[in-house]
Amino acid sequence: MSVNIAIDGPAGAGKSTIAKAAAKAVGFIYVDTGALYRSIAYYAISKGTNVSDPQAVASLLPRITPELKFIDGSQHVFVNGEDVSDKIRTPEISMGASAVSAIPAVRDFLFDLQKKIASENNVIMDGRDIGTVVLPDADLKIFLTASAEERARRRHAELTEKGECVDFDSVLADVNQRDYNDSHREIAPLKQAEDAVLCDTTELDLGQATEKVIALINETTKTKGLDDK
Ligand code: C5P
Repeated sequence: MSVNIAIDGPAGAGKSTIAKAAAKAVGFIYVDTGALYRSIAYYAISKGTNVSDPQAVASLLPRITPELKFIDGSQHVFVNGEDVSDKIRTPEISMGASAVSAIPAVRDFLFDLQKKIASENNVIMDGRDIGTVVLPDADLKIFLTASAEERARRRHAELTEKGECVDFDSVLADVNQRDYNDSHREIAPLKQAEDAVLCDTTELDLGQATEKVIALINETTKTKGLDDK
């Protein structure tokens, strides 16, 4: 039986960096489900489709085969055989992913793929609805968050490091807009599962937050007797 750890939280809380490092430490596969929503947005935008039009986006789905492949321990996302891992990390695709993720047909479309990966592997899966919808029986659920200003500061530093010239206020506006979209949509809104452990990283650096998550995972695998499976 595989061990499933769910990490949910808003954009920029450090989920992917922390989950990736924790997965490496405990020897699990890290699954970034946001990349799947981004890949749908990427395809729709490349076809000139309005990402906010549910019918138009739904009609594209039969033509999209998203795949996650784990190469040297890191996740790559493919769309119809093309590795789009780098192309999906732009502010335009971030907003597009937020829009397509509110479309029920898109969530249904990606549900089975996420379930399959979790049933076949020991995973740390991050997203917005992993603990509430995708893996309601996860062995451990963590809700990772930080203040909007702190999350915008981190994202701004990340983009600046990549050489992208964006001003802080527009990054903060994006963070707030995505928080609003993700937590107000009708289907699978971002919210903490009742049985999730809240982990606020506003005052923690990445190392401290990662240590905390690894400790929670080790504690869970030990108390559930999962460490010798
Ligand atoms: O995590 P990331 O920022 O890459 O996710 C991009 C967008 O995909 C999020 O803003 C959210 O709208 C959507 N998403 C989702 N459910 C998930 C993962 C991501 O709705 N499990």
